Amino acid sequence: MPTADSPASAANGSGEALPGTPGILPRPEHTVSRSQIWENALKVLYRLHRRGYQAHLVGGSVRDLLLGREPKDYDVATDATPEEVRDVFRNCRLIGRRFRLAHVYFQDGVVEVATFRGSGSDPEGEGKRRSEDGMILRDNVYGTLEEDACRRDFTVNALYYSIADFSVLDYVGGVDDLQAGRVRLIGDPEQRYCEDPVRMLRAVRFAAKLGFFIEAGTAAPIPSMSSLLEGVPAARLFEEVNKLFLAGNGVTTYQMLRRFRLFERLFPETAELLSQEGDHFPHTFLTHVLEDTDRRVARDLPVTPAFLFAALLWHPLQQERRGLEAEGMAPDDAMQKAAAEVMGRQTGRVAMPKRFSEGAREIWSLQARMERARGKRALRLLGHPRFRAAFDFLLVRGRSGEADPDPVAWWQDLLDTPSGQRPAKLGLKSEGGKSRSGRESA
Ligand code: ATP
Ligand code: MG
Repeated sequence: MPTADSPASAANGSGEALPGTPGILPRPEHTVSRSQIWENALKVLYRLHRRGYQAHLVGGSVRDLLLGREPKDYDVATDATPEEVRDVFRNCRLIGRRFRLAHVYFQDGVVEVATFRGSGSDPEGEGKRRSEDGMILRDNVYGTLEEDACRRDFTVNALYYSIADFSVLDYVGGVDDLQAGRVRLIGDPEQRYCEDPVRMLRAVRFAAKLGFFIEAGTAAPIPSMSSLLEGVPAARLFEEVNKLFLAGNGVTTYQMLRRFRLFERLFPETAELLSQEGDHFPHTFLTHVLEDTDRRVARDLPVTPAFLFAALLWHPLQQERRGLEAEGMAPDDAMQKAAAEVMGRQTGRVAMPKRFSEGAREIWSLQARMERARGKRALRLLGHPRFRAAFDFLLVRGRSGEADPDPVAWWQDLLDTPSGQRPAKLGLKSEGGKSRSGRESA
């Protein structure tokens, strides 16, 4: 990959990012070709350009194209305001309060169009708002392309592909960092983490995803600043957690999150058990779960937050359940109550939509039922919509030395039996030749 002519220095030492002369890579000097860009992203760029607006591809798509990777989604930056963007596209909706932007919809996806953000303060006080400790609560003051580059998070995420002349613009030394495999924050790291603590998670996510290292100045403040994550809305953290663990690099991400003391801010009870584990069970189990998840993502198989959260909270659940049983509660009641308690405390930190927390609880409650069920009950369980997930969960527990191998082998044997022969295998009369397990998803 070529180097940009003169990547400008992004920071002035006081934390304020300074716009500079961009390093310009003209078309012949970089590898981004229109043939690799999703046609609908090109349509959006061209249409804005024809209407007299600036239009650039920016962020992950430019980064990934320069690395020869397939972009996950396409972001466009423009000097058109969100309202002007809406006037250009019929298939467009404006979204977001904190960060207002336009979504342009196509049959097979969305192009996100954001107006250049400015660095200046907002005299009206409504467009840009910060909390007392510097967290950006709203960022809707518009600015220039240079200012937009400097308010982005990492240098490798602040490269622009211009539809006007097909050049790549680099205001912050992003091309150098891409070549070096370096995740580097733009501006003063501490200030940038105060503005938005989620950037600490993003640093880890990009390092794990791209196989990059986190530059020393960007990495150093993270452990001592990780507590700032507690001020981030729990719903936003749910989105981030999914991107961290369900994007195909879960094992590496998990190791880095623990090293940077970020994991304990997301899953405090799990982290506490990990820190005192004598028998390595929680760590082994979680590593197996994340390895499986990474393999599934690599094979394009579906993955669900319900399974992930069931796994991440499994040990806190066991601890809670044991405590309740020790107080004399019956096992099934203890299990129910423990699930509600653990899930309730966790959603205060990372808020998952109800369908996922319910899903996780079903996977949990199916564990005990699978360990007990035989005969007709077993046949019925096979038809449970969460059976497959619950069985996969049981398998990982077995592999991690946490579940009795007998029921695992017993269920595996049943699943290996053709469905028509299962009733007989269970000592049941077949129901007119057709078993209930016809409904099973396994
Ligand atoms: P991915 O491949 O995961 O989509 P991405 O870099 O495109 O990676 P997005 O979350 O889609 O990440 O964000 C798009 C761009 O918006 C980023 O590349 C970055 O320039 C900017 N951005 C996103 N989140 C932040 C943030 N918290 N602070 C500053 N800039 C951000
Ligand atoms: Mg993106």
